[in-house]
Amino acid sequence: MQKISDCVYAETGFRGCNPGFVVTGEGVVMIDTPQLPVEAVKWRDEIAKYGPVRYLINTEPHWDHFSGNYFFQGTIVAHEGTRKAIMATSVDQWKPYIKQISAESLQLLGDFSFRAPEITFSEQLTLHLGNHTFQLISLPGHTPYEVAVYIPEEKVVFSSDNVFAGVQTWMQQAVPYQWLDSLKRLQELDFDMLVPGHGRICDKSYLNEMMAFIQDWINAVKQALDAGISIEEAQAKISFLDRYPMESGTEFLASQVQKWNVARLYEVLQKGENSQHE
Ligand SMILES: [Zn+2]
Repeated sequence: MQKISDCVYAETGFRGCNPGFVVTGEGVVMIDTPQLPVEAVKWRDEIAKYGPVRYLINTEPHWDHFSGNYFFQGTIVAHEGTRKAIMATSVDQWKPYIKQISAESLQLLGDFSFRAPEITFSEQLTLHLGNHTFQLISLPGHTPYEVAVYIPEEKVVFSSDNVFAGVQTWMQQAVPYQWLDSLKRLQELDFDMLVPGHGRICDKSYLNEMMAFIQDWINAVKQALDAGISIEEAQAKISFLDRYPMESGTEFLASQVQKWNVARLYEVLQKGENSQHE
């Protein structure tokens, strides 16, 4: 666990997303949850030392961010698209995956279910707890439902999966042009530290690198489209694996992620910039 500022903590060593929490004068606010039940239980014990969990914010709709909700208290807050995605995800699909990567986690499941958000929003929502403010801002990018959590008193922002810092970026549900706009909006916030959805803790300067990477992806796929080559040919040709390593534990998915990214961008760019809403 890393201390990010006076009252903010985050963990970059768990399998899956980087969960974090903020200690306020009236309890704890969590941002995302560990994916593996064994790690969620560890995290729960760690957080309990700082007070009861009052709110739990899910920053996006993939299970590496929300499957741990079950192990925590607190009212869950997320984008309405994330609630829909959670309601549509089946535990029966999730279990074999967890069994494959963490068999010991299965013993902790009990009457496991995915806890869905109780409070949702579509554009922006502000929580006030103790002396802290939590600005939840809808910033489409990695998916249409990404949410940044900005805590001005701490000068910290949790970016969701719109930032993968120093590791490969997943784009299988991306809205690429909006993603660039969202990163620009993040740049306008006044903060010192950024907790990315995946990868190392960074600062504002990393946003330029992230934007450049997405732009390079867009350009590569656009070039393939302009040259009239098929999606399969583009998948065979385009890879950015030389640029960043896969996050630890996901190496076996390296070439698959490149293919998913190419396919998604190819489809979105083919339809045109203005039709990327889902
Ligand atoms: Zn993620």
